[in-house]
Amino acid sequence: MSSFAIGVDLGGTNLRIAAIDESGSLLEKITMRTLVKEGPESVIDRMCAGINQLVGKYAGNSRLLGAGVGIPGIIEMRTGTLREAPNLPGWHDYAVRDVIEKRLGTPVILENDANAAALGETWLGAAKDVNNMLMVTLGTGVGGGIVLNGEIWHGMTGMAGELGHVTVDPNGPSCRCGSVGCVEQYASASAIVRMAREKIAGGHAPGMARFASSSDAEFNAKLIHNLAVQGDRAAREIFQTVGWALGILLADMVNALNLEMYVIGGGVAPSWEVFSPTMFQELRKRSLVYAATAPEDSDGKTGASAQVQPDVLIQHTIVTRAVLGSDAGLYGAARLPMTTHEGAEHAHIPASSE
Ligand SMILES: [Zn+2]
Repeated sequence: MSSFAIGVDLGGTNLRIAAIDESGSLLEKITMRTLVKEGPESVIDRMCAGINQLVGKYAGNSRLLGAGVGIPGIIEMRTGTLREAPNLPGWHDYAVRDVIEKRLGTPVILENDANAAALGETWLGAAKDVNNMLMVTLGTGVGGGIVLNGEIWHGMTGMAGELGHVTVDPNGPSCRCGSVGCVEQYASASAIVRMAREKIAGGHAPGMARFASSSDAEFNAKLIHNLAVQGDRAAREIFQTVGWALGILLADMVNALNLEMYVIGGGVAPSWEVFSPTMFQELRKRSLVYAATAPEDSDGKTGASAQVQPDVLIQHTIVTRAVLGSDAGLYGAARLPMTTHEGAEHAHIPASSE
């Protein structure tokens, strides 16, 4: 009998639930709005209804291995409590795992969303040929996950991998975490928009100023990316700043960890061609370990194609793009019960009768 697991990606905007089999094939995906304003109870009710719907449909022909839930925030693994979640207002210090388990009547595995994305890329994506990798996710904020020997590195409490809050400029703009000059203040989608508005306000961005009166929904990182691709100087400078911050972060990580692969994912990753030249330049300049282990045609070329040839992996540090796009976290969440032994043994979600 084949087996499958449920993966959930609970984002600030979208809530996605999928049934994925053990070979990584997507059986079915349900997407709905998260509707954070309705509060955690209501969101979890709808999530559990979606999980039960998929379990009811697939558990007849296939063995259910359990459910994994990826959440954007800092999670205390032991208690399953969400400590900080800026994109989920009202969920602060919320015992998410208990509430979900009570609704479902079965254990679930909770994971930080960037950790889940790192596991997804390791299972089926850019890092499927390596055991040790680090992933940086560039979205509204900047997240990170570290996979060692094929498993997520949790640290003591489950809070390891908060790469978005590594300092790149001790005198930089203040960050919601309480520090200043964090990677997130330069390489996130919201930082890109902030930097663009600052340039417009300073009168340094005539090309972008035409869009200054656009709504926040329209004046976004994608628009600024398009202007950069068209050669707008101020927009290009912004993505050079993105690359600069990522280069500093990666240099620190390469020096500290000496892993096989570093993967850049998230919604800003498609802007790779406009930020990666500066990123590689900065990385090479600041990391002796990278300079000693970079593949011959690095500085963008290796990473420009998402397909890294396996022979390049031998004793080389690879920095590349994620390949699973926005589904990385969903696949990673489903992978959790397949690789976590407690989850696999105890999981039994009763099939819904609806
Ligand atoms: Zn910060």
